[in-house]
Amino acid sequence: MPEAYDQEGGVNQGRRFAAAIHRYRDPGAGDKMVPFAEQEAWENCQSGKATLKSGSRNKQASADYEFVFEDGIGFIKESIMDGVNLEDEMSSEKPDDSTAKNALQKLQEERKTLPIHPYRDELLQAIHDHQVMVIVGETGSGKTTQIPQYLHEAGYTKRGLVGCTQPRRVAAMSVAARVSQEMGVKLGHEVGYSIRFEDCSSEKTILKYMTDGMLLREFLSEPDLASYSVIMVDEGHERTLSTDILFGLVKDVTRFRKDLKLLISSATLDAKKFSDYFDSAPIFKIPGRRFPVTINFTKAPEADYIDAAIVTVLQIHVTQPPGDILVFLTGQEEIETIDEILKYRTRGFGTKIAELIICPIYANLPTELQAKIFEPTPDGARKVVLATNIAETSLTIDGIKYVVDPGFCKIKSYNPRTGVESLLINPISKASAMQRAGRSGRTGPGMCFRLYTAYNFQHDLDDNAVPEIQRTNLANVVLTLKSLGINDLVNFDFMDPPPSEALLEALGQLYALNALNSLGELTKIGRRMAEFPLDPMLSKMIVASEKYKCSEEAITIASMLSIGNSIFYRPKDKQVHADNARMNFHTGNVGDHIALLNVYNTWKETNYSTQWCYENYIQVRSMKRARDIRDQLEGLLERVEIEPTSNLSDLDAVKRAITSGFFHHSAKLQKTGAYRTLKKPQTVHIHPSSGLAEVLPRWVIYHELVLTTKEYMRQVTELKPEWLIEIAPHYYQMKD
Ligand code: ADP
Ligand code: MG
Repeated sequence: MPEAYDQEGGVNQGRRFAAAIHRYRDPGAGDKMVPFAEQEAWENCQSGKATLKSGSRNKQASADYEFVFEDGIGFIKESIMDGVNLEDEMSSEKPDDSTAKNALQKLQEERKTLPIHPYRDELLQAIHDHQVMVIVGETGSGKTTQIPQYLHEAGYTKRGLVGCTQPRRVAAMSVAARVSQEMGVKLGHEVGYSIRFEDCSSEKTILKYMTDGMLLREFLSEPDLASYSVIMVDEGHERTLSTDILFGLVKDVTRFRKDLKLLISSATLDAKKFSDYFDSAPIFKIPGRRFPVTINFTKAPEADYIDAAIVTVLQIHVTQPPGDILVFLTGQEEIETIDEILKYRTRGFGTKIAELIICPIYANLPTELQAKIFEPTPDGARKVVLATNIAETSLTIDGIKYVVDPGFCKIKSYNPRTGVESLLINPISKASAMQRAGRSGRTGPGMCFRLYTAYNFQHDLDDNAVPEIQRTNLANVVLTLKSLGINDLVNFDFMDPPPSEALLEALGQLYALNALNSLGELTKIGRRMAEFPLDPMLSKMIVASEKYKCSEEAITIASMLSIGNSIFYRPKDKQVHADNARMNFHTGNVGDHIALLNVYNTWKETNYSTQWCYENYIQVRSMKRARDIRDQLEGLLERVEIEPTSNLSDLDAVKRAITSGFFHHSAKLQKTGAYRTLKKPQTVHIHPSSGLAEVLPRWVIYHELVLTTKEYMRQVTELKPEWLIEIAPHYYQMKD
């Protein structure tokens, strides 16, 4: 399986993963150990307290498979999260599978078993009676899939669209797919979705799932949301930046559009804050149903959670009764690594253990593979879902009985002083840990294995996550708000205001990009930039490319940069070939941006050949996505009236266009061989994956900084310092 060449986390994680693989090289040769021994001891002395005989330690099985583990993990059962409303569960109608029914009928019956179903009429009445409402219900109760359908059945779609926002694009796609099945219609017709660079909706669409960011962009063309009759801001508890901004905007719209219904839904019980913010909107609680969940902590801290997660999954698989496993990981690279190691490990056991079906789920997983997580597990097999945070509240997978929670997630953090935004692996909050545990108790008593100690949980985890608005670069949002005519940002109705430092930094950055004038008003450049659903620096690069007559190149580079780091791949056994192929695009030390341009243009010359991608160690899926994005950016060029022009003979022109957007990101080589950023000086290095990593030009411009073992610049191009003075004289005065 190809390994994405340039992984987040880079060197650091690579080394850790290598260690993890090494540890499993030699299955079968391990010491004797009895899995869950500590827990068993604990349980014995606590017997009577426990309401659930957790897993009942399949002693026979564990004795048979003692050889499985070189080094098992001891867990301590710490507490039981009580079940709720189980009487409901017992009495609720179960779908009757005895008679052959068509799929649609079955789905209709399944709908009736969801916890929200008994409250349908009451909910519709409440929505009828109130313009704004907060809806709270446990994950999996049916909020996202059912409420929009109820609204449709009650006639709300006759007056306009029902829009439902999601913080994550996979959730928007997956839920829309599910609802279209339940309604028996084709996805993209009556039920559609809209995510950045992909609109799967049509004239026919009446239920539209979309990312919160997309609804935010819709405000630009329709500030009163006239085409909607209901807006449901779902997963409010996630408090993403776009959701928080939407809160302020939709609250305002409901004041002058009395016919618009607004629903804010959340998986956490702390809904009072939402209600207070929306002028004491009523709270509708959907009583959840959950079986008790046994919570286990590790006895001692685990040095490597990847390693610990793998061991725990195997321990569960070999010693615990049937039921699927859900593992929470921080990102695609981790998921791919664990996927690979688990496959390797279980192959070693052959038929001695039951089949383990591994299902990854993360944002960039191709759509056709996403559906796999929802397929029922065949008898005798066990499914293990390797998921990012997406499975915490956005997606519910039935049949999960065991949750493995390493206690980490990747979050964006931004330091307004240095202007550096980084995606870092951080401990989750207590609220997240509870949500994760709850995922195991949906269809029966569950077990959660936390790969950290009870002490860590109590002392190291915050109660709740910090809302994104307080830890991110705000330039994009400020540009959007300015283009909506909202000038007074300090007095914008934020649920939690961003730090004023971050707001000032964003205004400063937009001013430096000439998107705002000295009065803080949007300029013509800023207005054009706002049309592009991209980071302001990328938008500026495109808008500036008009001047350098290279708009074709600018949109290609922007599309390729938007793909992230999944363009090149490096199979383990062919790394040298892959590196050579990659370096071909760098001939003449053109820099990483031009190399990306070369990749795209060469692919285009082969008539977008898949074979060519294979031969050059390029991921065809990523290239297709780049092409889609490019098509859309081309359409937007037309909208802002920039001629598509190509200037391939003058690469300096292209680099000047890049500099026009990214002059904030410039650095100069030091005698030490490291670089120093020009503004807000800090020491940085060229990422080892860069074509310029060995060249070390005196001046460079970079796309982004990533922090792994060092602060690395990723996607680097050589810069002529006079360009900075030509392009951003207001920002740079050269001293040397
Ligand atoms: P909530 O929004 O309250 O968390 P949902 O409406 O997302 O709940 O989920 C209700 C039910 O629909 C769950 O049992 C879930 O398993 C099922 N479901 C949701 N999406 C899909 C899908 N893409 N495929 C199969 N089942 C799904
Ligand atoms: Mg939901």
